[in-house]
Amino acid sequence: RHPAIASPTRTKAIMTAYGLNFKKSLGQNFLTNETLLQQMVAVAEISLADDVIEIGPGIGALTEQLAQKAHQVTALEVDQRLLPVLAETLADYSNIKVIEQDVLKADLPALIADSFDGQHQLKVVANLPYYITSPIIKFLLQQPIPLKTMVVMMQKEVAERLSAVPKTKAYGALSVLVQYQCQAELAITVPKSFFIPQPQVDSAIVKLVKREEVISPVNSWPLFVKVVQGCFAHRRKNLGNNLLSIVGKQKMNKEQAAEFLAEMKLSARMRAEELTVGQFVELTNQLQIKGV
Ligand code: SAM
Repeated sequence: RHPAIASPTRTKAIMTAYGLNFKKSLGQNFLTNETLLQQMVAVAEISLADDVIEIGPGIGALTEQLAQKAHQVTALEVDQRLLPVLAETLADYSNIKVIEQDVLKADLPALIADSFDGQHQLKVVANLPYYITSPIIKFLLQQPIPLKTMVVMMQKEVAERLSAVPKTKAYGALSVLVQYQCQAELAITVPKSFFIPQPQVDSAIVKLVKREEVISPVNSWPLFVKVVQGCFAHRRKNLGNNLLSIVGKQKMNKEQAAEFLAEMKLSARMRAEELTVGQFVELTNQLQIKGV
């Protein structure tokens, strides 16, 4: 076997051999540290019991590490220039399929049915393109797919938001929406020097484990998104005022909003960042019952 793809020398050699430049617009910062990639695969607890979807294989640095542990790996890469590169760098592995595909436009249920046998656990492991980190996470969580775990590298600041607890500055709409469905944990922080080219900011690997059952079920997902985003829309405004903006002042006045919140043991003077995921669920379900 060749030495690992994940080294500065080999990464540069591959790019030069194919006459390729790194496309900033596609978030192409390639990982060049083999140990870190092995740690990432370990965080995802990848074994022969797992089928893995990778987003953005680049030149295959993470893909090959995944293939050494997983049953099957399917990697989605939007940059067609990289397809011939991957065909060569990953030629030794018979359990990898690379598809030219924009992940945000993928029909994932169909793709999963085509790629995997349904007898293995499904995991996502990826070093995400940072310009679309949040859209990808939201997209994956909306899919009707039997996803077990996601281990994803992203900007450290976004990783802190995903895993933030109430009453902290990083806690926001993304924390609530993600943590409703997943247990989120910041697993490893990664210095920018581990990439070629180096990104502007440090990175972190987040482990998201899908909850088998949500803590308390929300009756309308679109309303939940609206309420959570609405409550955090103006962080300095209190809950009562944000609620009025969401509902509309013609449907509820200040006193009614305060009363409505009091029924849930909430106060209009609280800030969104003080509410737990469970309290956002209750708020959403009560609003739905009220028909607002
Ligand atoms: N996995 C490689 C690594 O760890 O070194 C590359 C990671 S790089 C941060 C992100 C990769 O995502 C790039 O290869 C880029 O071309 C790809 N990408 C960007 N936008 C994408 C999209 N919408 N769908 C699929 N892949 C995308």
